[in-house]
Amino acid sequence: MYDYLIVGAGLYGAVFARLATDAGKKVLVIDKRSTVAGNIYTEKQEGINVHIYGAHIFHTNNKEVWDFLNRYATFNRFTNSPVANYKGELYSLPFNMYTFNKMWGVVTPEEAAAKIEEQRKEIKGEPKNLEEQAISLVGRDIYEKLIKGYTEKQWGRDCKDLPAFIIKRLPVRLTFDNNYFNALFQGIPVGGYTKMIENMLKGIEVRLNTDYLKDRENLKALAKKVVYTGPVDAYFDYSLGTLEYRSVRFENETLDKPSFQGNAAVNYTDRETPWTRIIEHKWFEFGKDENGNDLPKTVISREYSSEWKPGDEPYYPVNDAKNGALYEEYRKLAEKENNVIFGGRLGEYKYYDMDKTVEAAMDKFKKEGR
Ligand code: UDP
Repeated sequence: MYDYLIVGAGLYGAVFARLATDAGKKVLVIDKRSTVAGNIYTEKQEGINVHIYGAHIFHTNNKEVWDFLNRYATFNRFTNSPVANYKGELYSLPFNMYTFNKMWGVVTPEEAAAKIEEQRKEIKGEPKNLEEQAISLVGRDIYEKLIKGYTEKQWGRDCKDLPAFIIKRLPVRLTFDNNYFNALFQGIPVGGYTKMIENMLKGIEVRLNTDYLKDRENLKALAKKVVYTGPVDAYFDYSLGTLEYRSVRFENETLDKPSFQGNAAVNYTDRETPWTRIIEHKWFEFGKDENGNDLPKTVISREYSSEWKPGDEPYYPVNDAKNGALYEEYRKLAEKENNVIFGGRLGEYKYYDMDKTVEAAMDKFKKEGR
């Protein structure tokens, strides 16, 4: 009899499995995929660790989370500084003095602040949606060129129908700092995320190609408790209706040249370009292999966003009012489910970053000990 059956070998499941094992518990991890690491899975192609389920850049302010992960990986010094391409015009992200200079020709922080102040006046009172929030943060010009198209492609919804908090993730700075994240610690695990998760799961029994929902009676009987990290609505057979997710599709291409765009991420912020961004994976590791040699080829992924439908991979929960209310109903059902813990982006229907996922798994395990 196992103490825990962990459904999902992604980040949440692997962290929980490690902590439980280290505390002397007997753990079995299962995953319906043939690979571990969930959506942070990376795979080596042409000597490059390709982020198969989209770009993952680890960043955190939480020292405990950082120290924990550093036991299983060495992080490199990668700093995310994406570039926005609006119809061939390039802008620095996140919004900073380089962006404001290119947009308006302003040179000093005071000039930039004045320009933003002048443009944000059109929003009266508390911003009610993403559009109002964006204009109130950076003004209409930046909203129109760098936010509107990208956001509507990514979410498939009008900016007026999206919650303001999504855009609050993005920093606005009156300095020349292109670092996308305001985090104390940042980097990519050397050798890829898959290796990090494999290290975390060392010595723990893992069964791949095992779909919990297809055989739940037998699997559940194996353990005292289940940690379920799949979609919460699927667990309950969609009995209250389906939660909406955004899915992402990638078109990958290997190119016989050393560089395609000279940066890990370029966001296409106009409405017409069908993809949201292009990731050039080698730049997560500075274009070098593990011995420090330049790589002759490059792998790029064009990212297309779409509404999730059965059979697709769910990526992003849609945290609008309608889905929030439905999730609340599922959460009540989940609470009543004896000996099952629901965790992670899908289990909790939350737009978790990786560090928050680790933190949530740690917190959950700490509560188990009480
Ligand atoms: N965003 C934008 N323009 C950009 C990048 C981001 O308008 O060039 C907005 C967009 O609304 C997006 C949100 O900021 O949904 C968060 O973007 P982030 O890149 O943090 O999301 P993720 O990497 O999780 O997809």
